Amino acid sequence: MLKKGLKTPIFWYLLVIVCVSALILPTTVLAGGGAWWDVEPEPEDPSDFYDSILYSEIAPKLREIEKNSNRVKVDVIGQSAGGRNLFLVTLSDPQAMGRLGQYQAIRNTMLKDPEKAQEMIDKFGDFKVPVFINGSIHGGEYPGTDAAIRLIETLAYEDTPEVQNILKNVILLVNVVQNPDGRVMGTRRNANGFDLNRDFIAQSQSETRATVKILTEWNPMITLDLHGFVTPMLIEPTTPPHNPNYEYDLYLQWALNQAYAMEDELLVQTGLPALIPYRDWEDGWDDWGAQYVPMYAMYHGSYGHTLETPSRTEVGVDAHYAAVWGALKFVAANREAMLHDQIEIFRRGALDLPQMLIPDELLDQTQWDQYNLMTIQEFPAAYVIPADQPFQQSSHQAARLVDFLLFNDVEVEQASQSFTLDGTNYPKGTYVVWMDQPKRGLANTFLEDGPDLSDIIGLTFYSPPAVWSHPLLWGASRAVAEAEIAIQTTPVNNADKPSGSVSGNKAGAYAYEPTSIAAYQVTNKLIDRGVVVQRASSAFADRGISFEPGSFIVPADSSLANELANQHGLDVFAISETPENAVMMKEQKIAVYADEGTRHALEVLGFDYDEVGRSDVNDGVVENYDLFLNRNRSWGGLDDDGRASLTRFFSAGGDYVGLRSTGIQMAIDAGIIDVDFDAEDGNAIVNVKYSATDAVAGGFLDEDYAFVFTAAWFTRLGAGVVSSAEFSVGDFIVSGFWPGWQGSGAAGSPVVVHGADGDSDTTLIGLDVTFRGHPENTFRLLANAIYNGLD
Ligand SMILES: [Zn+2]
Repeated sequence: MLKKGLKTPIFWYLLVIVCVSALILPTTVLAGGGAWWDVEPEPEDPSDFYDSILYSEIAPKLREIEKNSNRVKVDVIGQSAGGRNLFLVTLSDPQAMGRLGQYQAIRNTMLKDPEKAQEMIDKFGDFKVPVFINGSIHGGEYPGTDAAIRLIETLAYEDTPEVQNILKNVILLVNVVQNPDGRVMGTRRNANGFDLNRDFIAQSQSETRATVKILTEWNPMITLDLHGFVTPMLIEPTTPPHNPNYEYDLYLQWALNQAYAMEDELLVQTGLPALIPYRDWEDGWDDWGAQYVPMYAMYHGSYGHTLETPSRTEVGVDAHYAAVWGALKFVAANREAMLHDQIEIFRRGALDLPQMLIPDELLDQTQWDQYNLMTIQEFPAAYVIPADQPFQQSSHQAARLVDFLLFNDVEVEQASQSFTLDGTNYPKGTYVVWMDQPKRGLANTFLEDGPDLSDIIGLTFYSPPAVWSHPLLWGASRAVAEAEIAIQTTPVNNADKPSGSVSGNKAGAYAYEPTSIAAYQVTNKLIDRGVVVQRASSAFADRGISFEPGSFIVPADSSLANELANQHGLDVFAISETPENAVMMKEQKIAVYADEGTRHALEVLGFDYDEVGRSDVNDGVVENYDLFLNRNRSWGGLDDDGRASLTRFFSAGGDYVGLRSTGIQMAIDAGIIDVDFDAEDGNAIVNVKYSATDAVAGGFLDEDYAFVFTAAWFTRLGAGVVSSAEFSVGDFIVSGFWPGWQGSGAAGSPVVVHGADGDSDTTLIGLDVTFRGHPENTFRLLANAIYNGLD
């Protein structure tokens, strides 16, 4: 097994890492038990403009190439939301294909010891760099996948000097069809309705997580994401604003020159021109957000580019192919210097070196103001994430956050002793994310509050949001250490599972609080199982312990209490009796007219529901349900039959949950609640003050965080309407981009309210509690609104 001449200390070091990394290499998962290349044909919606390859033809095609070329390996790296396979093609010269583990090991060393990696690469001689190609993440943008396959065939079979030169320098990683569902259905989105190129912050979809795994395992030096359609062909880098968490100077010099190389090759091969937003536009096409594939990849050291092919026809395939070919030739010509600067990105992070401004010769002076405002990031020394109460608002969400960070290749450690930060003494076992780490930019973009950009004149975003912040929006407490803290920490590979407890004895009943998503998940399961679950409609005290409004009560069954504690990590309390105002819970039949984020939240929380469309509502379908959850449909958008049907539904005691402006307006138009409201554009993380007595606000901190995307708030509450939550008074914006929020009148205004009209309960929420599946902390607010109809 051991090759002559490799028995050096470096070899042994590599061997260890190869063995370790072999454990985390993608495994081939076979859907349906058959070989991955046996794909059942199904009705598909191909391109209307050229003979695009069908999804069902891709696997047999890749298998054929794999069999006929010793340069190609195909792996199934996961499944789409609709259960279809995702294919990763790894392609290089045959010698490299036998040493992929070694290449990955050196890529890992780039993170662990960037300076040593540089030495190893210098000695290695012909070290090849990984280039990642992502095919057609938007299903209806067909040419990306066809161009990717043409590229694979060229490099698998041909022997021109250009092909030889590329194979000598590159390991190509091709995610051939990033969105199988969208390709089959001819849609931008996957089968869950998610735009995958907006999902790299939340990572709620399996397709996204499969790509994250490729990026963390390989740290590709280049990422090319193949889209359509912009004329002339659009090749990034972008206009401002640029996120300050990037090492943008290192990125830009290579990304810009590589864009020029793509432009040149496009012209040579197709005669078509290109536009490069960085060079050609002042604003409107930015790389601020980590929700996009190439921008997310930049945090793993990639020179990332979105490519927008200009044509829906075969010309669109030609253009993608030509541009990618230009990039590959550019990499072959500049590999060593580009790699040196990629390692420099990690070295700056690992050694906590300062960021640098964009070199003058690359700077577009018309964009200077925005660079000057945003380019240099001051990183804190560490983020501190307590594991348990009383320092942590949710041990479940803390564990979720830590596991998410680790999955994203962010280093997390755990304190070996207690320590004090800003007057708080944190126990041993508290998580610490040191910011002197190779991927500090990624760590910071997940963990910071984000800036408030509202007052920057002339700022535009191609596709908001401007902020995310996982701890704030996921409901995991975290502290910021601006200066070094002198403590011992050890690396962790996964978060500790939240440990629950059962307190007290001689139970008349057991209670647990609505403070974690887990509490809702298990509640919905227990109701399904037929367990009697009740819900306290106000705060109560029992045996000297105070319980949140909305707390859950189950019978005095100690094995059930132990199950809740041991399997679900809940703190369960023996209480003397069920509080008087407790309401019996039952499964509600829920009709949902909402977006993908809301549906995702309902699934996470464990609610069963049916999606209804406009014609269903017009046909009276909602009358078969207990509750109508509406985010997207206006009263005026229904026909007379639909409005009459909903009126009957409400008169018969049907409950309503309305989200954002549209859902709120429908309740007003239907006459089921007496309120006025106002709304403004803007997206931001906001401070919200929750009622201490209202069950819709149950389980939240008195002051907590939420997200708005076009905020709606109430300017008048009629008789009997209750406010559950308000925007905090004064400066309620934590971060984001809501120009003019100061004059909006939103500060201190109700933002979640409810009222009753006979037996019909209505709850209205002006926050965006489920935006693209990201703000997990407020998923519970949606559940409280649904439970509010129980009576
Ligand atoms: Zn696209």
